[in-house]
Amino acid sequence: MMSRPAAAVDLAVIGSGFGGLTAAALSAKDGLTVAVFERHTRPGGCAGDFALGGYWFPAGATVVTGLEPGGILRQVFGTLAVEVASTPLDPSIVFHIGDQQVPYAATVADWQATFRHAFPGAPPGYARFWDWSHEAGGVVYGIGASLPSLPIERWTDVRRTARAARPSTIKVLPLLGSTVGRVKRRLGAVGHLEADALIDSLLLDATGARAEDCSAVQGAIALDLYRRGCQWVEGGTARLAMQLVRNIREHGGTVEFATEVASLEPKGGAWDLVLASGTRVRAKRVVANVPPAALDRLRARRPELPGAGDAWGAFVLHLGIDGDGLDAMHPFHQVIQSPGDLDADGASCLVSIYAGRGARANRWSVSVSTHTRAADWLDYPARTACRRAALESRLLHAAAGVIPDLDARVKMVRSATPATYQRFTARPGGLVGGLVQRPGNVALRAPGHRPERHLYMAGDHVFPGQGTVGTALSGINAYRDVTESLGLRPML
Ligand SMILES: Cc1cc2nc3c(=O)[nH]c(=O)nc-3n(C[C@H](O)[C@H](O)[C@H](O)COP(=O)(O)OP(=O)(O)OC[C@H]3O[C@@H](n4cnc5c(N)ncnc54)[C@H](O)[C@@H]3O)c2cc1C
Repeated sequence: MMSRPAAAVDLAVIGSGFGGLTAAALSAKDGLTVAVFERHTRPGGCAGDFALGGYWFPAGATVVTGLEPGGILRQVFGTLAVEVASTPLDPSIVFHIGDQQVPYAATVADWQATFRHAFPGAPPGYARFWDWSHEAGGVVYGIGASLPSLPIERWTDVRRTARAARPSTIKVLPLLGSTVGRVKRRLGAVGHLEADALIDSLLLDATGARAEDCSAVQGAIALDLYRRGCQWVEGGTARLAMQLVRNIREHGGTVEFATEVASLEPKGGAWDLVLASGTRVRAKRVVANVPPAALDRLRARRPELPGAGDAWGAFVLHLGIDGDGLDAMHPFHQVIQSPGDLDADGASCLVSIYAGRGARANRWSVSVSTHTRAADWLDYPARTACRRAALESRLLHAAAGVIPDLDARVKMVRSATPATYQRFTARPGGLVGGLVQRPGNVALRAPGHRPERHLYMAGDHVFPGQGTVGTALSGINAYRDVTESLGLRPML
């Protein structure tokens, strides 16, 4: 195809996930000419949304963290002077395990009391473990909120990360190579099946790893973050993504939807993006908000997927329900269906509930999400229909334990498999959520974000990893590199 001549911008961003939008919005506010290209028709990627049959649904992410005062997302929105209405949630999540409901309370004292009451047979080591998670999680939280840049690749990473250093930082250094499982054993928090399942299910959601494999540093912050900073945002993460899009446009940037970048070529110290339409865009700097395998494709290299077991796929059951007569419900419920076998599809799932509003007050939407091995869905498509039906029914059963009369209320059922995520969010292999947070993948050993000169990556596959807060930090670091390399001083 003949390509048209290149338009020129300071920064081109490929993808409007949270990492890309953060980098774009901060750069546009700094006065750079910014162009964001998004192949889908809406922003947010895995944290975006969609509408179907008169119902609104979150595409993936539901739980919002990082909007508390000083939180990473709050720092981004504060710097951009964007008002975000959010309400702190206490409890953040309600666990359903056996016939018990266990609310994850925000203060450690309340949580310790709730835990003792729910699991009277749990050894005293579990109380020590929750104290540890709060103390170590607090230190890691403080480090994260200082916006470090890891792994250390350049002097600038040392400078950015040194801001996080406090006397307490020393306490978490020994945890760098350790796992939550080792910490649990050291503290005597072992031997209670249901308590372990609760810890594992929360870690799986936030880090992709169970206690045995999960980095102690990431595990501490993951367990603690739900207590420090879980917020309710009307319209969810997709609303936040849309606010970033508006902010980019207000600062003169462009965000083009249904616009796929087909390839990326170096050109005389800058980059040429070739769009699927054939248009060329020249950019002094590029932020690629796509997984490494997708960037490989853009650079005409053989795509390399993470190794087996290093990343997960997701299965989500989307239900449109009639909420008539339902009382306001707590939005997040972790249902643990089989404590002994969390690796089985649907053994643990997160039920997120969105009540309808205004003229659509009765149109509630419910998302029930669980981890699944992506390759099983993509490599054996012939088995998908039967597998999908079985998992839909299992997740429907889980949600029915949370929402009264669910069977009679369901008006619409759809489900998303790894193939769906591959198609709609362009995640190669249907892998979502970045790398499993094992000690070898985090902090000083996390993947870096500078694959080539003047090309930076943002997203959940580079430091610090999973979740919208993590990707926002990756976007901040990409933005800092862009502005510093153009001789400007970044705002964050
Ligand atoms: C089911 C599920 C539940 C989750 N739950 C939570 C949660 O509760 N809380 C939380 O914080 N996180 C959650 N996450 C994780 C979180 O959503 C992701 O980690 C985060 O949103 C990823 O952001 P990203 O910046 O990596 O971009 P992505 O979300 O991967 O977005 C990348 C964007 O780039 C676009 N794109 C790709 N290639 C091109 C191209 N060539 N040209 C143009 N555009 C392109 C894609 O269409 C996409 O919009 C969940 C994820 C899933 C899947």
